[in-house]
Formats: sequence, C-alpha cells, structure tokens
Amino acid sequence: MTSKKDEIIRGLEIQKEIFGDDLFCTREDLEIKKEPAIKISKVSEPSFGFNGTEDFRSAASLEELNDQICNCLKCPLGKGRNKFVFGSGNPKARVMVIGEGPGAEEDMQGEPFVGRAGKLLTDILKAIRFERSEVYIANIVKCRPPGNRAPLLEEIDACFPYLEKQIELIKPKLILLLGATAVLGLLKKKESMGSLRGKVFYYGQSKVMITYHPAYLLRNPNSKRATWEDVQAFRKLYDEIYPS
Ligand code: SF4
Repeated sequence: MTSKKDEIIRGLEIQKEIFGDDLFCTREDLEIKKEPAIKISKVSEPSFGFNGTEDFRSAASLEELNDQICNCLKCPLGKGRNKFVFGSGNPKARVMVIGEGPGAEEDMQGEPFVGRAGKLLTDILKAIRFERSEVYIANIVKCRPPGNRAPLLEEIDACFPYLEKQIELIKPKLILLLGATAVLGLLKKKESMGSLRGKVFYYGQSKVMITYHPAYLLRNPNSKRATWEDVQAFRKLYDEIYPS
C-alpha cells in the first residue's frame, strides 16, 4: 500500500520531471484575485451547413448527448474528421479541463489528449494530485481542424452549444482552460494569456482558471514555470472549495 509520504515523494518527482529543478512557490505567487462575474454572451446559431436537430438540448446524459451529436456535420470540420472526439472522463467530475480541438492522434482514436500533449496533461494533473480519470476532459471543437490549425470563429460557434450542454450535464465546480482558443470559446475573451492567467472567472456556477495548452508547452518549455504557478493556484482553489 502506498503511504502518504510515498505519494508526496512521487508527486515531487513528477513535478521535477515536468517543471524542472527551479521550482518555488511563494504565498504571493498563489494569491488569487477575485474577478467579478463576467457576462457570457449567447452564441448565435451558425448560418451555414446545419445538419442535425436541436434534440440534443434535451439529452439527459452524456451518452445520450454523444449519440445525438456524433454524426454532426454542422460545420466544415465534420467532413474532414476520422473520428468525432466527444470528450472523456468522470461524468460527475468536480473539475473539467477544456482544450482547443483534436489533433492527429485524437482524430484517429476518438479520444481527447492522447498524444504527446495528452501525456504532458496527464503528468501536470498528477503533479497537482488529480488522476485523469477523476476529471472530465473535452475540447472547444469536437472534430480536428485540418493541419492542426486553430478552429475558426464560426467553427467554435457551431460547436459551442455541445460543450455548453456537456457542462450543463457534468456541472463541474471548477474548469481549467488550456490556451487562448479555449478562453475565446468559453469566456469569449480575446485578451493575451499573460493578462488572463492567475485570475478566477465564472462560467455559470463554475469557477474558471486559465493556463497554457500542453502542446504550446512542448514548443515553449520556458512557459512551464508559469504553468506550474497556474496549476498550483488552481489546486489551491479546488482545496478551498473541497477542503479535505
Ligand atoms: S466541429 Fe463540432 S460543429 Fe463542427 S462538425 Fe464537428 S461536432 Fe459538428
């Protein structure tokens, strides 16, 4: 059986592997500034290629929702996909993690965050004491944009009602957004990541924090330190909501 001490040592080893030796966190680093609730504007229906019905809005479970939308061709991304990537994890998760869109691996497997970036995300979650299976992971769009480009605004708008419904069913208390596209999709904010990090936003009843996308971290390892600060602050917020 793993002792608490072993768990802490393993946690520190994971932190070192992911974030390097020069970690430190002061109390000020972790100070979370409360932001007033922001108004979430209603997403208008796209004016192109709608191929489906609004029945998904009455889905009573994630399985039902998946069944109703998995053949969606509501935006051009649907035609290019191999697999629809609905999302995965605990349907009653306290924490939802939302990224940008499926990449090549995800498109082949039909699962979110399964490539190199996915492994890094799993390690980051572990470093802040979350098992991947206890959170729910989804993306802003459910079909792969060609060439791994960022989804276009109309694609985000077309797909957003599905994510909105997933959030309504899961009811996470906390959401971690990965990267600028996730921020744009959920919070409708286009500001720089630097100006958004470290703050707490609201999406309905969920508290939302922001950090860099793991794929960005693979290309820009210098941002791992900032990510470490972000996810520590996120864990602190979780512990305030769910004291052990
Ligand atoms: S990205 Fe979303 S809206 Fe576009 S086809 Fe896929 S599921 Fe439908």
